[in-house]
Amino acid sequence: MTSQPPKAPPLYPKTHLLAASGIAALLSLALLVFPSSEVEAKRTTLNLELETPAEQLTQDQDAAELTQATNEATPSPFAQIEQQDNPVAKVEEDKAPSHREVVVSKGDTLSTLFAKVGLPATSVHEILASDKQAKQFSQLKHGQKLEFEMGPDGQLNNLHSQVSDLETITLSKSAKGYTFRRVTTLPVVRSAYVHGVISSSLSASGQRAGLPHSMTMEMAKVFGYDIDFAQDIRPGDQFEVIYEQKVANGKTVGTGNILSARFTNRGKTYTAVRYTNKQGVSNYYTADGSSMRKAFIRTPVDFARISSRFSSGRKHPILNKIRAHKGVDYAAPRGTPIKAAGDGKVLLAGRRGGYGNTVIIQHGNTYRTLYGHMQGFAKGIKTGGSVKQGQVIGFIGTTGLSTGPHLHYEFQVNGVHVDPLGQKLPMADPIAKAERTRFLQQSQPLMARMNQEKATLLASSKR
Ligand SMILES: [Zn+2]
Repeated sequence: MTSQPPKAPPLYPKTHLLAASGIAALLSLALLVFPSSEVEAKRTTLNLELETPAEQLTQDQDAAELTQATNEATPSPFAQIEQQDNPVAKVEEDKAPSHREVVVSKGDTLSTLFAKVGLPATSVHEILASDKQAKQFSQLKHGQKLEFEMGPDGQLNNLHSQVSDLETITLSKSAKGYTFRRVTTLPVVRSAYVHGVISSSLSASGQRAGLPHSMTMEMAKVFGYDIDFAQDIRPGDQFEVIYEQKVANGKTVGTGNILSARFTNRGKTYTAVRYTNKQGVSNYYTADGSSMRKAFIRTPVDFARISSRFSSGRKHPILNKIRAHKGVDYAAPRGTPIKAAGDGKVLLAGRRGGYGNTVIIQHGNTYRTLYGHMQGFAKGIKTGGSVKQGQVIGFIGTTGLSTGPHLHYEFQVNGVHVDPLGQKLPMADPIAKAERTRFLQQSQPLMARMNQEKATLLASSKR
């Protein structure tokens, strides 16, 4: 993202967010010219941690910028597909005698609303009969706004209503009566910046910083290999996130991916950058291109208790003999999901003697993991198939030689059993050499932006 965001071509009037009339050619042009990753809108800074008056002022200014940015947003694949009517322009016409707005209240019908703007009751029928879909206008919701445009003859020229954040319906006078149109808006995607300080829980701090809950959870996942969010975080820890925000008609209607993030945990700062390689596979990397994820998850069961460790000799609880325990046992309630420790190929998903229902996964040439005593297998898990890291492969049970619900987990390196808890787990692959330059072209501006946004925030909070 070293290049400047592309300027809107003259086809798109600047004040006209809803550009270009639903023409497929234009849309595909937009697709070619404006990949979503390059849609870099103005920042939105929300830091509710610091509530000095200066900070409030900054927020207000940013809110103004946000509106501005929305109106000037560059059309993208997500950009709104046409509409001729510009709501902004409409508001300005409010006082014109030909334009009337009514808000649906209790007991209103299309007839009462028509009467309010001085249209005869007969015209309701005439209009509704003119287009099969026009009766969508009679499905009125409390608080819905109807905008009427009348010609000099007092006849209805145009009836328009926003039915949801992303949908408008319009009825326009045409040669053969009235023509109905429903326009679905695709949101504009832009990036938003958020900074937060941990005071109590991560989710409360995320909320206070203005980060949507789903993004807070996503951040926890991104840093989940380095930070234990249940135990490691402390008051005063800080986070910054640049994430995709979907905006339509000036309103935030959803979120996309986290593009980059930084988390300072007990004085140590971790970075994350999302990168999609040339094969189209997306992963998170540190700002210098190391993989965020380890090749293996440390524990294949969440919220489990280690009930037996790896040992070269212990008394087997059922066989009552001294036997090596070549794995780790995790006790958890029956039915608890078991996750694949890493990407790999399923060598076995079936019964295997004392192990009961077992899954064995081969990871590359070197590593192999085994999961025993399962109650059953997850949907789609079968011998010969492949699995992704973290994918649920089955559920805690007590099949085979087992005294209670638990997972028996084994880890092999080149055919030799090792203690999975004692292993220094290998990292997943870093950025490929051939993609390093392309990666840095994306990661450096994101890091620079976080530095700049944070500096601006700190400066404004000191004022
Ligand atoms: Zn065991």
